Amino acid sequence: MSEGIVIRTHGALMRVQVDGDLRLASPRGRLRRGRGGILAGDRVEMTDDVIDAVRPRKNRLSRPPVANVDMALVVVTLREPRMSFLEVDRRLVLVHLAKIRPAVVLGKTDLLKDGEISSFLSLYRAAGYEAVGVSARSGEGLGDLRRLLRGQLAVLSGPSGVGKSSVLSALTGQRLETGSLAGGDRGRQTTKHVELLPVGGGFVADTPGFAAADFPEMRRIDLQQAFPDILAHRPGCRFADCLHLSEPDCAVKDAVASESIRPERYASYRAFLEEVREPWSRSPRPS
Ligand code: GDP
Ligand code: ZN
Repeated sequence: MSEGIVIRTHGALMRVQVDGDLRLASPRGRLRRGRGGILAGDRVEMTDDVIDAVRPRKNRLSRPPVANVDMALVVVTLREPRMSFLEVDRRLVLVHLAKIRPAVVLGKTDLLKDGEISSFLSLYRAAGYEAVGVSARSGEGLGDLRRLLRGQLAVLSGPSGVGKSSVLSALTGQRLETGSLAGGDRGRQTTKHVELLPVGGGFVADTPGFAAADFPEMRRIDLQQAFPDILAHRPGCRFADCLHLSEPDCAVKDAVASESIRPERYASYRAFLEEVREPWSRSPRPS
């Protein structure tokens, strides 16, 4: 018996990586039914070229359909296109809610001044995220990104045009069509098969995830769990259920005033708090 990881599903055939080799395998009959079948990212037990069992999954995304995702790389650009902090932070919150480790990748650094790159990266590092800058065009930062990906199964997230396909091509040396990862995760991707591409001892899915969607119904008090910078200061608040709006003795607001929490991050938190619908409030969201 050997163990492998499913790289791509293909009808009843799966491409599986076993001990560094790629094999085509097919699941035993009972495995083809139920539980949504076998997904890319599944860890499987095999005898010869037959998959006998699927190991329990730690998670599964539906878009793209991938199991056992460790990390989501939120790809951000400050030019071509200019992304807002709100867009970046929204994706980071969605990744957090999926219980996946987020990282920030500032792309197209060849278009930016050194000072812009370092101030952006330090903002997110200070907020508690791993953050790297890369340029698919110049190759700058690709080594840092490979190191970040070591041993991880990652998905990319980011709007169309930020350079996801280009970064993936640069990392894998495989030529992906420019714009082939376009869109959040709608349209043609639903018909496309996901493939995991080997990168730096890990894998990256060739289909992006975490489109800038609405938040699920959740408690407002839980939103701050997705803000490491707010969480770090919250123990200093007088009230345990402080939402850091206008409560007295709020350590978070103090931290914003002294810029230990960056105002941009607090602005995102405030905006998302307005959007969050509590599970018990059935009325439509005010517009
Ligand atoms: P995707 O939609 O996120 O997959 O983005 P693409 O990889 O298709 O890139 C969108 C556009 O940005 C294309 O015109 C690329 O040539 C350009 N682009 C991608 N990476 C870089 C980069 O590192 N620097 C610059 N200047 N342009 C880039
Ligand atoms: Zn507070």
